[in-house]
Amino acid sequence: MKTSQLWFAIFLLSLASALAQSNPATPPTAPQVTVIRAGTLIDPRANEPLHNQVIFVIDDRIEAVGDAAGSTIPPNVKVIDLSNATVLPGLIESHTHIFLQGEDPALGGYDIQLLKFPLAYRAARATVSARRALEQGFTTIRDMETEGAGYGDVGIKMAVNEGRIPGPRIFTTTRAISTTGGYPLEGYAPEIEVPKGVQIIDGPVQARKAAREQMDHGADWIKVYMTHRSWSDKNGKLVSQPTLTLEEIKAITDETHSWGRKVACHAYNGEGLQRALDGGCDSIEHGLGLTDANIAQMKRQGTWYCPTIAIYCKEWSPENTPAGRRDRARAAEHEQSFKKALQAGVKIVFGTDVGGFSWEEPIAQEFPYMVKFGMSPMDAIRSATIAPAEMLDMSGKIGIIAPGAYADVIAVPGDPLKDITGLGRVKFVMHNGQVFKSEISGP
Ligand SMILES: [Zn+2]
Repeated sequence: MKTSQLWFAIFLLSLASALAQSNPATPPTAPQVTVIRAGTLIDPRANEPLHNQVIFVIDDRIEAVGDAAGSTIPPNVKVIDLSNATVLPGLIESHTHIFLQGEDPALGGYDIQLLKFPLAYRAARATVSARRALEQGFTTIRDMETEGAGYGDVGIKMAVNEGRIPGPRIFTTTRAISTTGGYPLEGYAPEIEVPKGVQIIDGPVQARKAAREQMDHGADWIKVYMTHRSWSDKNGKLVSQPTLTLEEIKAITDETHSWGRKVACHAYNGEGLQRALDGGCDSIEHGLGLTDANIAQMKRQGTWYCPTIAIYCKEWSPENTPAGRRDRARAAEHEQSFKKALQAGVKIVFGTDVGGFSWEEPIAQEFPYMVKFGMSPMDAIRSATIAPAEMLDMSGKIGIIAPGAYADVIAVPGDPLKDITGLGRVKFVMHNGQVFKSEISGP
């Protein structure tokens, strides 16, 4: 008997005796015990899946995981039978916008969301977005700014944590930061004051103050836009306008790190991306045009890469228009950047920018692009489990099914290691030990 099996046997005995001795007069304080039978279990720490496992959940945590063969499930506990399914840890989405609802020009694009939607309406829809993430198996999200909805994400997170609305665990960034000329809304008459989708700063003093304000009001991370407009030059190469100076981004990373928090930088390529890296940012968002030198620096500094591929691979503007050329240049460079970063062993996390496209679309559409561009299905799963858990300083707590972790458990039919699109068919979701969705029938 392996040590782990021995511990598991001891755990079962102690659980059985604890249940036998529990006083029926005090049911409200009795621990809630659930046992999940997993036909196949994908542990992202291992290379091969396990079969015929049982997972013991007590309240919101995983208590034990072990072989079903030979183990006795105590009587009177709730058993969830996922023998016909593949069970995985709850997934982590590292780049969402719950306060955005797509940018379809036919529906008013980005601007209408800031100009015509009352904040309460946006919050109501953000509530639905949070639910959408959870029902697709994403039990944790890093939400990458509210796009003009202020500290709304902190409010949604509060409501989720209090159990008032269903939703994933949320890491907030609140308002995000860019410079004058570095973010929409734009293109209006200069006499008219319009809202901005971020907090605008100019100079390192304002930069540091914005980071302090946002963290003071509940930002778990700080989001910074290090590039803004992009176009293709006469050779078809992608060019991006930098925003913050090195001095400005350094003020933000210095302040944020001293609070024990991290900085995510939206950066396409070029000078803005270089300043993000030189300024010590913790994650590069999008990174469409990473040079070999950028990649080497990311490796050296341990910078995370959240590529968000799918959103750049569709709905291009018509060919032979400036926007159409730009869209194609972006996608072509992005594919190369991803492949090079993957080869070099840069730490990659799964993210989609959902909200930039409609929340009605499947989040899992990103996985097939990662696999198509060379990532193994197991590494794609890791990019949405153990990798972001480490980025979020939550290793051992989320992204795995192991003793001590939060009981975030999902299941899909079939084998996602053979067909990665299977992650788009999540039929069972448990979050913090509570079953949120259960559409899988037993054997
Ligand atoms: Zn985004």
